[in-house]
Amino acid sequence: MHPVTEPEGAYLASARQHAVDEFIRIRREIHAEPELGFAEHRTAALVADKLEGWGYAVERGVGGTGVVGRLVRGDGQRRLGLRADMDALPMAEHSGKPWASRRPGVMHACGHDGHTAMLLAAARRLAEDSHWSGTLVLIFQPAEEGGGGALRMMEDGLFERYPCDAVFAMHNMPGLPLGHLQFREGAAMASSDYATITIDGLGGHGAMPQHAADPIVAAASLVMALQTIVARNVDPQQTAVVTVGALQAGQANNVIPAQARLELSVRALDAGVRALLERRIRALAASQAEGLGCTATVDWRRGYTVLVNTPAETALARAVGLELVGAERVTLQGPALTGSEDFAFMLERVPGSYLLVGNGDGEGHCMVHNSGYDFDDRNIAVGAAYWTLLAQRFLTA
Ligand SMILES: [Zn+2]
Ligand SMILES: [Zn+2]
Repeated sequence: MHPVTEPEGAYLASARQHAVDEFIRIRREIHAEPELGFAEHRTAALVADKLEGWGYAVERGVGGTGVVGRLVRGDGQRRLGLRADMDALPMAEHSGKPWASRRPGVMHACGHDGHTAMLLAAARRLAEDSHWSGTLVLIFQPAEEGGGGALRMMEDGLFERYPCDAVFAMHNMPGLPLGHLQFREGAAMASSDYATITIDGLGGHGAMPQHAADPIVAAASLVMALQTIVARNVDPQQTAVVTVGALQAGQANNVIPAQARLELSVRALDAGVRALLERRIRALAASQAEGLGCTATVDWRRGYTVLVNTPAETALARAVGLELVGAERVTLQGPALTGSEDFAFMLERVPGSYLLVGNGDGEGHCMVHNSGYDFDDRNIAVGAAYWTLLAQRFLTA
Protein backbone atom coordinates (compact mmCIF):
# COMPACT_ATOMS: atom_id res chain seq x y z
CA MET A 1 0.00 0.00 0.00
CA HIS A 2 1.14 3.49 -0.75
CA PRO A 3 0.08 6.06 1.81
CA VAL A 4 -2.87 8.19 0.88
CA THR A 5 -2.86 11.65 2.36
CA GLU A 6 -5.88 13.70 3.31
CA PRO A 7 -7.08 16.33 0.84
CA GLU A 8 -7.14 19.90 2.15
CA GLY A 9 -9.93 20.42 4.66
CA ALA A 10 -11.39 18.10 7.23
CA TYR A 11 -14.77 17.37 5.70
CA LEU A 12 -13.81 13.80 4.96
CA ALA A 13 -12.87 12.98 8.52
CA SER A 14 -16.02 11.05 9.23
CA ALA A 15 -16.05 9.38 5.83
CA ARG A 16 -12.51 8.14 6.31
CA GLN A 17 -13.36 6.43 9.55
CA HIS A 18 -15.08 3.84 7.46
CA ALA A 19 -11.92 2.06 6.45
CA VAL A 20 -11.62 3.07 2.80
CA ASP A 21 -8.17 1.46 2.67
CA GLU A 22 -9.74 -1.81 1.58
CA PHE A 23 -11.39 -0.03 -1.33
CA ILE A 24 -8.20 1.77 -2.31
CA ARG A 25 -6.63 -1.67 -2.55
CA ILE A 26 -9.55 -2.88 -4.67
CA ARG A 27 -9.33 0.18 -6.92
CA ARG A 28 -5.65 -0.42 -7.57
CA GLU A 29 -6.25 -4.10 -8.18
CA ILE A 30 -8.91 -3.27 -10.80
CA HIS A 31 -6.61 -0.61 -12.24
CA ALA A 32 -3.76 -3.11 -12.68
CA GLU A 33 -6.02 -5.58 -14.50
CA PRO A 34 -8.08 -3.36 -16.80
CA GLU A 35 -10.67 -4.92 -19.10
CA LEU A 36 -12.30 -3.56 -22.25
CA GLY A 37 -16.05 -3.12 -22.71
CA PHE A 38 -18.09 -6.35 -22.49
CA ALA A 39 -14.92 -8.18 -21.40
CA GLU A 40 -15.04 -7.05 -17.74
CA HIS A 41 -15.20 -10.66 -16.53
CA ARG A 42 -12.68 -10.38 -13.72
CA THR A 43 -13.96 -6.99 -12.55
CA ALA A 44 -17.59 -8.10 -12.67
CA ALA A 45 -16.79 -11.27 -10.70
CA LEU A 46 -14.97 -9.22 -8.06
CA VAL A 47 -17.93 -6.82 -7.77
CA ALA A 48 -20.51 -9.63 -7.62
CA ASP A 49 -18.55 -11.62 -5.01
CA LYS A 50 -18.17 -8.57 -2.77
CA LEU A 51 -21.86 -7.63 -3.01
CA GLU A 52 -22.94 -11.19 -2.22
CA GLY A 53 -20.63 -11.23 0.75
CA TRP A 54 -22.38 -8.16 2.16
CA GLY A 55 -25.84 -9.65 1.74
CA TYR A 56 -26.97 -8.23 -1.62
CA ALA A 57 -29.09 -10.30 -3.99
CA VAL A 58 -26.82 -10.32 -7.04
CA GLU A 59 -27.51 -10.95 -10.70
CA ARG A 60 -24.54 -11.44 -13.00
CA GLY A 61 -24.36 -11.21 -16.77
CA VAL A 62 -26.95 -8.45 -17.18
CA GLY A 63 -26.46 -6.95 -20.67
CA GLY A 64 -23.26 -8.90 -21.19
CA THR A 65 -20.95 -8.42 -18.22
CA GLY A 66 -23.13 -6.12 -16.13
CA VAL A 67 -23.83 -6.80 -12.45
CA VAL A 68 -26.84 -5.72 -10.40
CA GLY A 69 -26.98 -5.91 -6.61
CA ARG A 70 -30.26 -5.35 -4.78
CA LEU A 71 -30.76 -4.79 -1.08
CA VAL A 72 -34.17 -4.30 0.56
CA ARG A 73 -34.47 -2.85 4.04
CA GLY A 74 -37.54 -2.03 6.13
CA ASP A 75 -40.92 -1.35 4.57
CA GLY A 76 -40.01 1.75 2.55
CA GLN A 77 -41.56 1.79 -0.92
CA ARG A 78 -39.01 3.93 -2.75
CA ARG A 79 -36.42 2.39 -5.06
CA LEU A 80 -33.07 4.05 -5.72
CA GLY A 81 -30.64 3.13 -8.53
CA LEU A 82 -26.93 4.04 -8.32
CA ARG A 83 -24.72 3.34 -11.32
CA ALA A 84 -20.98 2.80 -11.77
CA ASP A 85 -19.12 1.87 -14.97
CA MET A 86 -16.40 -0.81 -15.08
CA ASP A 87 -14.67 -0.72 -18.48
CA ALA A 88 -11.19 0.46 -19.50
CA LEU A 89 -9.81 1.91 -22.75
CA PRO A 90 -7.68 0.42 -25.56
CA MET A 91 -4.53 2.45 -24.92
CA ALA A 92 -1.12 2.03 -23.29
CA GLU A 93 -0.56 3.44 -19.79
CA HIS A 94 2.31 5.77 -18.91
CA SER A 95 1.25 6.85 -15.43
CA GLY A 96 4.36 5.36 -13.82
CA LYS A 97 2.26 4.24 -10.86
CA PRO A 98 3.12 0.97 -9.06
CA TRP A 99 -0.43 -0.22 -9.82
CA ALA A 100 -0.18 0.65 -13.54
CA SER A 101 -1.83 -1.68 -16.04
CA ARG A 102 -0.34 -5.14 -16.37
CA ARG A 103 -2.27 -5.65 -19.60
CA PRO A 104 -0.50 -4.20 -22.65
CA GLY A 105 -2.66 -1.76 -24.60
CA VAL A 106 -5.47 -1.62 -22.03
CA MET A 107 -5.78 1.12 -19.43
CA HIS A 108 -8.19 2.56 -16.90
CA ALA A 109 -7.71 6.06 -18.30
CA CYS A 110 -11.21 7.32 -17.47
CA GLY A 111 -11.34 6.42 -13.77
CA HIS A 112 -14.04 3.75 -14.04
CA ASP A 113 -11.89 1.70 -11.65
CA GLY A 114 -12.46 4.50 -9.13
CA HIS A 115 -16.19 4.73 -9.84
CA THR A 116 -16.49 0.99 -9.23
CA ALA A 117 -14.52 1.20 -5.98
CA MET A 118 -16.57 4.18 -4.73
CA LEU A 119 -19.86 2.39 -5.28
CA LEU A 120 -18.52 -0.79 -3.68
CA ALA A 121 -17.40 1.19 -0.63
CA ALA A 122 -20.89 2.72 -0.40
CA ALA A 123 -22.45 -0.72 -0.88
CA ARG A 124 -20.73 -2.06 2.18
CA ARG A 125 -21.56 0.95 4.32
CA LEU A 126 -25.21 0.86 3.29
CA ALA A 127 -25.37 -2.86 4.03
CA GLU A 128 -24.28 -2.10 7.60
CA ASP A 129 -26.36 1.05 7.93
CA SER A 130 -29.87 1.16 9.35
CA HIS A 131 -30.65 4.79 8.44
CA TRP A 132 -32.66 3.96 5.36
CA SER A 133 -35.68 1.98 4.29
CA GLY A 134 -36.62 0.83 0.80
CA THR A 135 -34.91 -0.81 -2.16
CA LEU A 136 -31.35 -0.08 -3.17
CA VAL A 137 -30.34 -1.11 -6.71
CA LEU A 138 -26.63 -0.95 -7.48
CA ILE A 139 -25.88 -1.07 -11.20
CA PHE A 140 -22.35 -1.90 -12.37
CA GLN A 141 -22.45 -1.48 -16.11
CA PRO A 142 -20.10 -2.69 -18.83
CA ALA A 143 -18.83 -0.83 -21.89
CA GLU A 144 -19.50 2.85 -21.20
CA GLU A 145 -16.69 3.85 -23.59
CA GLY A 146 -18.66 3.69 -26.83
CA GLY A 147 -20.13 0.23 -26.40
CA GLY A 148 -23.46 1.39 -25.00
CA GLY A 149 -23.38 -0.99 -22.04
CA ALA A 150 -26.17 0.95 -20.28
CA LEU A 151 -28.46 0.41 -23.26
CA ARG A 152 -27.55 -3.28 -23.40
CA MET A 153 -28.48 -3.68 -19.72
CA MET A 154 -31.79 -1.92 -20.37
CA GLU A 155 -32.49 -4.11 -23.41
CA ASP A 156 -31.80 -7.05 -21.10
CA GLY A 157 -34.66 -5.88 -18.84
CA LEU A 158 -32.74 -3.90 -16.23
CA PHE A 159 -35.58 -1.60 -15.21
CA GLU A 160 -38.27 -4.26 -15.65
CA ARG A 161 -36.58 -6.55 -13.16
CA TYR A 162 -35.15 -3.74 -11.03
CA PRO A 163 -37.61 -0.83 -11.21
CA CYS A 164 -36.15 2.43 -9.90
CA ASP A 165 -37.85 5.71 -8.99
CA ALA A 166 -34.60 7.59 -9.63
CA VAL A 167 -31.08 6.82 -10.86
CA PHE A 168 -27.83 8.64 -10.21
CA ALA A 169 -24.26 8.34 -11.50
CA MET A 170 -21.00 10.12 -10.79
CA HIS A 171 -17.90 10.72 -12.95
CA ASN A 172 -14.54 12.09 -11.88
CA MET A 173 -13.28 15.23 -13.62
CA PRO A 174 -9.64 16.34 -13.78
CA GLY A 175 -9.31 20.13 -13.67
CA LEU A 176 -11.90 20.44 -10.91
CA PRO A 177 -10.42 20.67 -7.38
CA LEU A 178 -10.18 17.31 -5.63
CA GLY A 179 -13.48 16.30 -4.08
CA HIS A 180 -15.34 19.30 -5.53
CA LEU A 181 -18.87 18.35 -6.63
CA GLN A 182 -20.45 19.80 -9.76
CA PHE A 183 -24.11 19.55 -10.71
CA ARG A 184 -26.24 20.67 -13.61
CA GLU A 185 -29.96 20.64 -14.19
CA GLY A 186 -31.09 20.04 -17.78
CA ALA A 187 -28.93 19.00 -20.74
CA ALA A 188 -25.50 18.25 -19.28
CA MET A 189 -23.72 16.09 -21.86
CA ALA A 190 -23.99 15.90 -25.61
CA SER A 191 -25.39 13.38 -28.02
CA SER A 192 -22.72 11.74 -30.14
CA ASP A 193 -23.32 10.54 -33.68
CA TYR A 194 -20.88 9.23 -36.24
CA ALA A 195 -20.91 9.48 -40.02
CA THR A 196 -18.78 7.91 -42.71
CA ILE A 197 -19.05 9.83 -45.97
CA THR A 198 -17.78 8.04 -49.06
CA ILE A 199 -17.24 10.20 -52.15
CA ASP A 200 -17.04 8.32 -55.42
CA GLY A 201 -15.52 10.02 -58.44
CA LEU A 202 -13.70 8.80 -61.51
CA GLY A 203 -10.03 7.95 -61.17
CA GLY A 204 -7.49 8.96 -63.78
CA HIS A 205 -4.04 10.33 -64.61
CA GLY A 206 -2.91 13.22 -62.45
CA ALA A 207 -1.72 15.04 -65.56
CA MET A 208 -5.11 14.80 -67.31
CA PRO A 209 -7.77 15.83 -64.76
CA GLN A 210 -10.21 16.67 -67.53
CA HIS A 211 -10.81 12.93 -67.98
CA ALA A 212 -11.44 12.33 -64.27
CA ALA A 213 -13.88 13.36 -61.53
CA ASP A 214 -11.63 14.14 -58.56
CA PRO A 215 -13.05 12.96 -55.20
CA ILE A 216 -10.19 14.68 -53.32
CA VAL A 217 -11.32 18.11 -54.49
CA ALA A 218 -14.90 17.21 -53.55
CA ALA A 219 -13.78 15.96 -50.12
CA ALA A 220 -11.72 19.10 -49.50
CA SER A 221 -14.65 21.28 -50.52
CA LEU A 222 -16.95 19.29 -48.27
CA VAL A 223 -14.63 19.66 -45.26
CA MET A 224 -14.79 23.43 -45.64
CA ALA A 225 -18.52 23.51 -46.30
CA LEU A 226 -19.17 21.44 -43.14
CA GLN A 227 -17.67 24.27 -41.08
CA THR A 228 -20.59 26.48 -42.09
CA ILE A 229 -23.16 24.30 -40.33
CA VAL A 230 -22.23 25.41 -36.82
CA ALA A 231 -21.43 28.93 -38.03
CA ARG A 232 -24.49 29.52 -40.24
CA ASN A 233 -27.24 26.96 -39.52
CA VAL A 234 -27.20 26.34 -35.76
CA ASP A 235 -28.78 28.91 -33.43
CA PRO A 236 -25.84 30.87 -31.94
CA GLN A 237 -27.35 30.26 -28.48
CA GLN A 238 -27.04 26.49 -28.97
CA THR A 239 -24.08 24.13 -28.76
CA ALA A 240 -22.96 21.92 -31.64
CA VAL A 241 -19.76 20.27 -32.85
CA VAL A 242 -18.97 18.87 -36.31
CA THR A 243 -15.47 17.37 -36.43
CA VAL A 244 -13.90 15.67 -39.43
CA GLY A 245 -11.51 13.33 -37.66
CA ALA A 246 -10.31 11.35 -40.65
CA LEU A 247 -9.92 12.06 -44.36
CA GLN A 248 -8.46 9.37 -46.57
CA ALA A 249 -7.86 9.37 -50.31
CA GLY A 250 -5.18 8.56 -52.84
CA GLN A 251 -1.67 7.14 -52.68
CA ALA A 252 0.41 8.70 -55.46
CA ASN A 253 1.05 12.25 -56.65
CA ASN A 254 0.20 11.47 -60.26
CA VAL A 255 -2.93 9.39 -59.75
CA ILE A 256 -6.40 10.80 -59.20
CA PRO A 257 -8.10 8.22 -56.98
CA ALA A 258 -11.62 6.96 -57.52
CA GLN A 259 -12.73 7.43 -53.94
CA ALA A 260 -12.30 9.53 -50.81
CA ARG A 261 -13.61 8.85 -47.32
CA LEU A 262 -14.38 11.13 -44.38
CA GLU A 263 -15.12 10.16 -40.77
CA LEU A 264 -17.17 12.62 -38.71
CA SER A 265 -17.98 13.04 -35.03
CA VAL A 266 -21.14 15.07 -34.43
CA ARG A 267 -22.30 16.44 -31.05
CA ALA A 268 -25.33 18.38 -29.83
CA LEU A 269 -27.03 19.26 -26.54
CA ASP A 270 -30.53 19.37 -27.95
CA ALA A 271 -32.57 16.86 -29.95
CA GLY A 272 -33.64 19.49 -32.50
CA VAL A 273 -30.07 20.62 -33.09
CA ARG A 274 -29.03 16.98 -33.36
CA ALA A 275 -31.58 16.42 -36.15
CA LEU A 276 -30.57 19.65 -37.90
CA LEU A 277 -26.90 18.59 -37.95
CA GLU A 278 -27.77 15.31 -39.64
CA ARG A 279 -29.97 17.03 -42.25
CA ARG A 280 -27.33 19.63 -43.12
CA ILE A 281 -24.45 17.15 -43.26
CA ARG A 282 -26.42 14.91 -45.63
CA ALA A 283 -27.41 17.87 -47.80
CA LEU A 284 -23.89 19.29 -48.04
CA ALA A 285 -22.36 15.89 -48.76
CA ALA A 286 -24.76 15.41 -51.66
CA SER A 287 -24.49 18.92 -53.08
CA GLN A 288 -20.73 19.34 -52.75
CA ALA A 289 -20.09 15.96 -54.36
CA GLU A 290 -22.57 16.57 -57.15
CA GLY A 291 -21.21 20.02 -57.87
CA LEU A 292 -17.82 18.46 -58.58
CA GLY A 293 -19.02 15.51 -60.64
CA CYS A 294 -18.95 12.95 -57.84
CA THR A 295 -21.51 11.17 -55.67
CA ALA A 296 -21.62 10.91 -51.89
CA THR A 297 -22.90 8.09 -49.71
CA VAL A 298 -23.53 8.83 -46.04
CA ASP A 299 -23.48 6.03 -43.47
CA TRP A 300 -25.01 7.60 -40.35
CA ARG A 301 -24.66 5.86 -36.98
CA ARG A 302 -26.56 7.20 -33.98
CA GLY A 303 -24.52 7.02 -30.78
CA TYR A 304 -25.37 8.19 -27.28
CA THR A 305 -28.33 10.46 -26.69
CA VAL A 306 -28.29 13.86 -24.94
CA LEU A 307 -27.91 13.45 -21.17
CA VAL A 308 -30.65 15.43 -19.37
CA ASN A 309 -30.69 15.77 -15.58
CA THR A 310 -34.22 16.14 -14.19
CA PRO A 311 -35.03 19.09 -11.85
CA ALA A 312 -36.28 17.38 -8.67
CA GLU A 313 -33.55 14.72 -8.62
CA THR A 314 -30.86 17.32 -9.37
CA ALA A 315 -32.18 19.44 -6.49
CA LEU A 316 -31.81 16.45 -4.16
CA ALA A 317 -28.34 15.66 -5.52
CA ARG A 318 -27.27 19.26 -4.89
CA ALA A 319 -28.71 19.31 -1.37
CA VAL A 320 -26.77 16.15 -0.52
CA GLY A 321 -23.60 17.69 -1.94
CA LEU A 322 -24.05 20.87 0.10
CA GLU A 323 -24.69 18.87 3.24
CA LEU A 324 -21.65 16.68 2.67
CA VAL A 325 -18.90 19.07 1.55
CA GLY A 326 -20.29 22.59 2.01
CA ALA A 327 -21.09 25.37 -0.45
CA GLU A 328 -17.45 26.27 -1.12
CA ARG A 329 -16.87 22.82 -2.62
CA VAL A 330 -20.03 22.69 -4.72
CA THR A 331 -20.90 24.10 -8.15
CA LEU A 332 -24.69 24.09 -8.33
CA GLN A 333 -25.01 24.66 -12.08
CA GLY A 334 -21.82 23.86 -13.97
CA PRO A 335 -21.39 24.19 -17.74
CA ALA A 336 -22.67 21.51 -20.10
CA LEU A 337 -20.01 19.27 -21.64
CA THR A 338 -19.67 18.27 -25.29
CA GLY A 339 -18.49 14.82 -24.25
CA SER A 340 -21.01 11.98 -24.14
CA GLU A 341 -22.07 9.37 -21.62
CA ASP A 342 -24.40 6.40 -22.04
CA PHE A 343 -26.00 6.94 -18.62
CA ALA A 344 -28.07 9.30 -20.81
CA PHE A 345 -30.12 6.27 -21.94
CA MET A 346 -31.01 5.43 -18.33
CA LEU A 347 -32.10 9.03 -17.79
CA GLU A 348 -34.43 8.74 -20.80
CA ARG A 349 -36.31 6.04 -18.88
CA VAL A 350 -35.92 7.04 -15.23
CA PRO A 351 -35.56 10.51 -13.67
CA GLY A 352 -32.21 11.20 -12.11
CA SER A 353 -29.00 13.17 -12.16
CA TYR A 354 -25.38 12.78 -13.21
CA LEU A 355 -22.75 14.64 -11.23
CA LEU A 356 -19.03 15.29 -11.43
CA VAL A 357 -16.44 14.95 -8.68
CA GLY A 358 -13.15 16.84 -9.09
CA ASN A 359 -10.07 14.66 -9.61
CA GLY A 360 -7.76 17.57 -8.77
CA ASP A 361 -6.43 20.63 -10.58
CA GLY A 362 -3.08 22.24 -11.12
CA GLU A 363 0.05 20.68 -12.55
CA GLY A 364 0.40 16.95 -12.96
CA HIS A 365 -3.31 16.32 -13.31
CA CYS A 366 -3.84 14.60 -16.63
CA MET A 367 -7.19 14.75 -18.40
CA VAL A 368 -9.13 11.50 -18.70
CA HIS A 369 -8.10 9.41 -21.74
CA ASN A 370 -4.51 10.67 -21.33
CA SER A 371 -1.90 7.91 -20.90
CA GLY A 372 -0.60 9.58 -17.71
CA TYR A 373 -4.03 9.79 -16.03
CA ASP A 374 -4.87 8.10 -12.72
CA PHE A 375 -7.97 8.25 -10.52
CA ASP A 376 -7.24 9.96 -7.19
CA ASP A 377 -7.82 7.43 -4.41
CA ARG A 378 -8.82 10.15 -1.96
CA ASN A 379 -12.07 10.46 -3.91
CA ILE A 380 -13.15 6.97 -2.88
CA ALA A 381 -14.05 8.38 0.54
CA VAL A 382 -15.86 11.31 -1.08
CA GLY A 383 -17.82 9.11 -3.46
CA ALA A 384 -18.72 6.51 -0.85
CA ALA A 385 -19.86 9.21 1.59
CA TYR A 386 -21.88 10.91 -1.15
CA TRP A 387 -23.69 7.74 -2.25
CA THR A 388 -24.37 6.78 1.35
CA LEU A 389 -25.87 10.14 2.25
CA LEU A 390 -27.88 10.28 -0.98
CA ALA A 391 -29.33 6.84 -0.24
CA GLN A 392 -30.18 7.89 3.33
CA ARG A 393 -31.95 11.03 2.07
CA PHE A 394 -33.78 9.35 -0.82
CA LEU A 395 -34.71 6.18 1.06
CA THR A 396 -35.81 7.94 4.21
CA ALA A 397 -36.26 5.50 7.05
ZN1 LIG B 1 -13.99 7.94 -20.93
ZN1 LIG C 1 -15.61 7.70 -18.25
